[in-house]
Amino acid sequence: MLTRDRGLLKRRRVTHGLYVRSQEPVEQAVEVVRRLHLSGRLAPFTRCLRCGGELDPVGKAEVIDRLEPLTRRHHHAFQRCTGCGNVYWRGSHHPRLAAVVERIRARV
Ligand SMILES: [Zn+2]
Repeated sequence: MLTRDRGLLKRRRVTHGLYVRSQEPVEQAVEVVRRLHLSGRLAPFTRCLRCGGELDPVGKAEVIDRLEPLTRRHHHAFQRCTGCGNVYWRGSHHPRLAAVVERIRARV
């Protein structure tokens, strides 16, 4: 468990916990990666945000019925969660997220 709540970490049910000192999200990510020695295991954009399942490439034809019209028109590469089936593509937010990842990578 990653938390800023020391009370949660003291509960008996929590067997593995880490208190995160920073209150700023990028700094929190840097702190967690450093303290848990995860820098060699970073794999951004490979896990589902909903369930944590692995993402696999999937053909557009297989997911086209689940896409909004503008997504159908402008995007051609998709991934699907092997756990929950959620579909992902590199939308307009992707460059901003990739920049955040690079900020973290540069510091770990
Ligand atoms: Zn999922």
